Amino acid sequence: MKKTSTPVLPARTAPGDGPLLAVDDLHVEFATRQGVVKAVNGVSYSLNPGETLAVLGESGSGKSVTAQAIMGILDMPPARIPRGEIRFRGTDLLRLPEDQRAQVRGQRISMIFQDALSALNPVFTVGWQISEMFRVHRGMSRRDATKKAIELMDRVRIPAARQRVNDYPHQFSGGMRQRIMIAMAIALDPEVLIADEPTTALDVTVQAQIMELLAELQRESNMGLILITHDLGVVADVADKIAVMYGGRIVENALVHDIYRSPAHPYTKGLLDSIPRVDLKGQELYAIKGMPPNLLDMPQGCAFHPRCPYRQDNCVTDAPPLYEIGPTRGSACHYWREVFDDSRR
Ligand code: SF4
Repeated sequence: MKKTSTPVLPARTAPGDGPLLAVDDLHVEFATRQGVVKAVNGVSYSLNPGETLAVLGESGSGKSVTAQAIMGILDMPPARIPRGEIRFRGTDLLRLPEDQRAQVRGQRISMIFQDALSALNPVFTVGWQISEMFRVHRGMSRRDATKKAIELMDRVRIPAARQRVNDYPHQFSGGMRQRIMIAMAIALDPEVLIADEPTTALDVTVQAQIMELLAELQRESNMGLILITHDLGVVADVADKIAVMYGGRIVENALVHDIYRSPAHPYTKGLLDSIPRVDLKGQELYAIKGMPPNLLDMPQGCAFHPRCPYRQDNCVTDAPPLYEIGPTRGSACHYWREVFDDSRR
């Protein structure tokens, strides 16, 4: 019988010629009482150091499940990964022994969650929670770890960090709590940071400040950033490229300015048309009709066809592949040319 060698994770400094992170043909499904939920159906994307990839889609599109698979925090079972690879510096994380995987999680690939209040422990001070990263993973003394926590609180612009290090999460505003989450996520200098809807619970001004902070931290450390959001308006200024997900698949990917200029998938076009615009004040806001697909019972053919204004007869029977429509673009629509031309009018 052929022996397969156990993969080993390359060091941080390994030169490597591929992307920093590459998700390839990833499938994730969940066994439920009602049947198998196919949450991710063949997702592929890549990320380079210093690059920001925005992954966009409605709830249930598979964007967060893909991120959880990258982090290795899916409950297995009920989750199952029947196919695909997640290569980090060339090593497939899905084949890595759990002890090595645990060393990646939080240290080399880190994540910020949407709801900072429930992600932080209410009974410990924020300083304790941030410094725990250094005590547990770096073996630092309590005193040194607290010093590092204050430095990090300063770095994420929490005013009067030294005075506030012994405050509890409920004593901070929503925006400040999110900064504390960011401090914890970057504490160990991750090479990849995944931010899952990091600004959803915040008001617009604070959203902008958090996005600015993330961009600034990324520039300083050259980490790769995956920004998960349902809001195209949030990513325009910070992302380099976008992957739009629908029904567990990527339906369009492109460089950020290309997608804003001329989307090539009806779903992306619908998302862009739904962004409120000051020059259209007084007009009814556009909304994509219908509901996202039921992942237990996906529509035949193109999953977007029940909601699509461009639908033709074959859309109901033939699932479109991700057509390569340019060197850095793909669209999973049989009629992408029509959408593209309409977008440019
Ligand atoms: Fe719409 Fe057909 Fe394109 Fe699907 S393949 S997005 S149904 S036009």
